[in-house]
Amino acid sequence: MDADAIIVGGGHNGLTAAAYLAKAGLDVHIFERRPFVGGAAVTQELWPGFHFSTCAHMTHGIHPKIIRDLRLYERGLEMCTRLGGIRMCPDGTYYGPSDHASPRNRMQPLTEEEREAARKYGEFKRTLIDIFVPYRLQPPPTLDDVRAKVAGTLAAEVLERALTTRIRELQDAFLPTDNLKERHAGEGAAVGRNPLAMHFAYGSINRPEEETGEAPPYGYPRNGMGAIPRMIAEAAGEAGVKIHVNQDVEQFLVEDGKVIGIRLSGGTEVRSRVVVSNLDPKRTFLKMLAPEHLDERLRARIQGLITHVSCYKFLAVITELPQYTAWDGDPDWPYMGSTVMGMTRAEIDAAYDDLDAGRPPRTPVASFSVPSFVDPSLTRSGYHTASIWIFPAPAKLSEGTWDGVREQVAERLIDQITGYAPNFRASIRDYKLRTPLDLERENGLTDGCIWHIQHAGEHLFWNRPLPELAAYRAPLKGLYLCGAGQHPGGEVSGIPGHNAAHEILKDL
Ligand SMILES: Cc1cc2nc3c(=O)[nH]c(=O)nc-3n(C[C@H](O)[C@H](O)[C@H](O)COP(=O)(O)OP(=O)(O)OC[C@H]3O[C@@H](n4cnc5c(N)ncnc54)[C@H](O)[C@@H]3O)c2cc1C
Repeated sequence: MDADAIIVGGGHNGLTAAAYLAKAGLDVHIFERRPFVGGAAVTQELWPGFHFSTCAHMTHGIHPKIIRDLRLYERGLEMCTRLGGIRMCPDGTYYGPSDHASPRNRMQPLTEEEREAARKYGEFKRTLIDIFVPYRLQPPPTLDDVRAKVAGTLAAEVLERALTTRIRELQDAFLPTDNLKERHAGEGAAVGRNPLAMHFAYGSINRPEEETGEAPPYGYPRNGMGAIPRMIAEAAGEAGVKIHVNQDVEQFLVEDGKVIGIRLSGGTEVRSRVVVSNLDPKRTFLKMLAPEHLDERLRARIQGLITHVSCYKFLAVITELPQYTAWDGDPDWPYMGSTVMGMTRAEIDAAYDDLDAGRPPRTPVASFSVPSFVDPSLTRSGYHTASIWIFPAPAKLSEGTWDGVREQVAERLIDQITGYAPNFRASIRDYKLRTPLDLERENGLTDGCIWHIQHAGEHLFWNRPLPELAAYRAPLKGLYLCGAGQHPGGEVSGIPGHNAAHEILKDL
């Protein structure tokens, strides 16, 4: 035996799982195909002196226990403030801070009826989220467990409604005016067309730890997202984990129905007591395992997991901050959070019509942040770094490829934003558009799906990714799952890695 545990993939969850396993005394090896670890949580110097979080750019869900266990604050984890942001509307109005008085601010004034409706809607979502907070640091509950827990309470009604109602219909039931419906138009829009309201329950990862009341850190990590996996890798290294980069794992080795190691693309085989996959479920089961090792019906269901809703990212060095014509408040406010465009109900519907037709969306949601505004370490003086997250996008185009439309898509996006901030086009010194295809090719994300499988309400908790795979164990002995496709899901939380390691330790 060459190792106790092999972790395939050095994303932040693979690193987290490795750190816990090594702290428990196991001999752990990580094999990562890229020249660096971090997966979709990385900082890259795209142009000399300009640093970008090329995938995830902010954090909100790293569990405080993981921060303590891996001593991330002691290792230098520092957050830069990030505030609420603004939503721009095509007619020159916006949804801004509720205390900012302006005729353009659609949050001001709300009527008494609107305020009460918004309060009840918020309460519904909070009640749903509260149900799931205690299940973060453990394998997901079954639906029966949850039903039994909330039986006879108001939360039972909320749960059943969330399981059977789509977000639009929930909004229509709670929110009496078009103004309020539009205010919430973007909810779930990155996940799919009008997702199930259960999607909101994923918000449980953002909640303070129950025992201590400590909240997960929120905002931009100083030096970009890559700071987080760098510190987790340091903790893993101290515990004895060996990290091997530039090592593409080609297949899992299977003997007598048990996974007994890996084969690297150069042909080298490495054996271990357990293999832990940090890859998404489709990659894990459809690429790393030869078909004869998996039940055909299970393969078909894995194939059906929702990954086709993707996104893209526009990263740019800009010489001036975007000057939004409509904004009439504190001049710094648009850069302290994200300024969002393309997020009315009509625009989102049109973007999903484009997605369903396999076309790049003509007016996507564009969420524009300027991380260098609060973290000057990312840029050279006189410039800013623009980080724009754009969704939804079809993973595959019905005609041509993302490489073929890259320039056209970038041009259209620049026009869309310049319509709101006329100085934007001229302010761009360099830019890079990262398409769904780039996310697949460079980051190894099937279909460029940023959460490995979508955060659709159907794919959470007992169903993440499927009931028989939800407890971090594969149907083949020796194979475990620790990536974002596991409970509680994607985003940079470290929780799937933490939970997988604890389940593995129970079995060994
Ligand atoms: C564009 C984008 C924007 C995002 N924005 C945010 C955000 O702002 N905030 C947030 O919290 N989250 C965000 N996310 C989501 C978040 O980054 C991911 O959900 C999370 O990083 C997944 O972590 P992971 O460790 O589970 O997997 P990954 O980060 O996907 O790591 C998997 C690793 O496996 C490696 N690998 C793949 N195949 C092989 C192989 N054959 N052999 C060896 N290694 C292999 C990959 O290179 C990668 O390093 C974003 C993601 C993207 C892509």
